[in-house]
Amino acid sequence: MSSPLRLGRFSIGIGDRFAHQAQAQLQALVEIGRLGFAVTPVWNKSNREHTIIGSEPASTRAAADAAVAALGWNGGYFLDADHIRLETVGRFLTPCDFFTIDVADSIGQASAPEAVEAFVARYPELVGEVRIPGIPEPFQISRAQIEAVSAKYLAATAEAGRIYRHILASKGAGMFVTEVSMDETDLPQTPPELLVILVALADEGVPVQTIAPKFTGRFNKGVDYVGDIAQFEREFNDDLAVIDHAIARYGLPSDLKLSVHSGSDKFSIYGPIRLALQRTGAGVHLKTAGTTWLEEVIGLAEAGGDGLELAKEIYRDALAQREALCAPYAAVIDIDPNRLPAALEVDGWTSARFVAALRHVPSDPGFNPSFRQLIHVGFKVAAKMGPRYLSSLERHREVVSRNVTANLLERHLKPLLVG
Ligand SMILES: [Zn+2]
Repeated sequence: MSSPLRLGRFSIGIGDRFAHQAQAQLQALVEIGRLGFAVTPVWNKSNREHTIIGSEPASTRAAADAAVAALGWNGGYFLDADHIRLETVGRFLTPCDFFTIDVADSIGQASAPEAVEAFVARYPELVGEVRIPGIPEPFQISRAQIEAVSAKYLAATAEAGRIYRHILASKGAGMFVTEVSMDETDLPQTPPELLVILVALADEGVPVQTIAPKFTGRFNKGVDYVGDIAQFEREFNDDLAVIDHAIARYGLPSDLKLSVHSGSDKFSIYGPIRLALQRTGAGVHLKTAGTTWLEEVIGLAEAGGDGLELAKEIYRDALAQREALCAPYAAVIDIDPNRLPAALEVDGWTSARFVAALRHVPSDPGFNPSFRQLIHVGFKVAAKMGPRYLSSLERHREVVSRNVTANLLERHLKPLLVG
């Protein structure tokens, strides 16, 4: 396979919904760099986000290039066409150099029995006792199991191949980073399933560099991980071993690594991830998006005056449209309506009270995860405000930037990498 552009060991997806925070985000990477950790920035924005906001991928490119120039950033940086499919990739082809090929919807779609049979025949080593260096107990996989897993995933990996070749025809070999995502589905993928998926991607000739499985537990938007941390840690470590094995045995790119989606704000698993990376020398891609939008609202609220008023208006409108705003995100939020304060109550809040409810400091008695998640999905409200929202961001640029940078640096990069 060709040798594609390199992401480096550590990279972070920094979604910037309104294309106003690229410089503040990049500042966090400058600062973690000074602590000895080179982290590659990847500006990601999904087709869903562009559609809700009414923006074009080219605007993300312009904002990223401007931030890189302003800070004199010398390292690599990428633009991620996040969660694209064959029918949506078109407008991302020119501005983007990182493609997250989303094939979750093809999981479980029927494959021809001959295709399954031929796949299993090409990889007989997947049947029986499969020993993977780094995993204490070998997998015991029967032929029926491997056929069932192949039947479940082969349509998805074939679709990944089709989309990859479509991008390849436009961009050229080695000119972009390929991620394959399967996270937006119901059931987590086990390490043996990940092995089959990687073998099938290699079989399709997809030089996958980051793979986003669905991990065990809940990765709700903008709040901490909910689930069995010990089980997550085992699974994450086993996945790392599977990846090493797949690189060595199936010729996948040597820098293939895990991508953790909805990776922002998952404070309770950053420790286990950091330990696994330190132990193995593996890398990771941590994808974040809405956490930066929330820092914009926090910054406006902290600014007081008209900034605070606008933040309250965003909450009021989001509360009024709660069901419609939550619908597209139903699988990835857990809002308790009884914990949402009335708009009238919030109208009386001080800056400090509003900021405490929204800022992700779980130990703060004022923190309200339901309030935070509602505003997380409420960016459509700000998008509808249009220039009124954007000019407020510009007026309060300093306080907003300070919050955006500190959030990525202190609550994300440091716990993930430094400890
Ligand atoms: Zn995702």
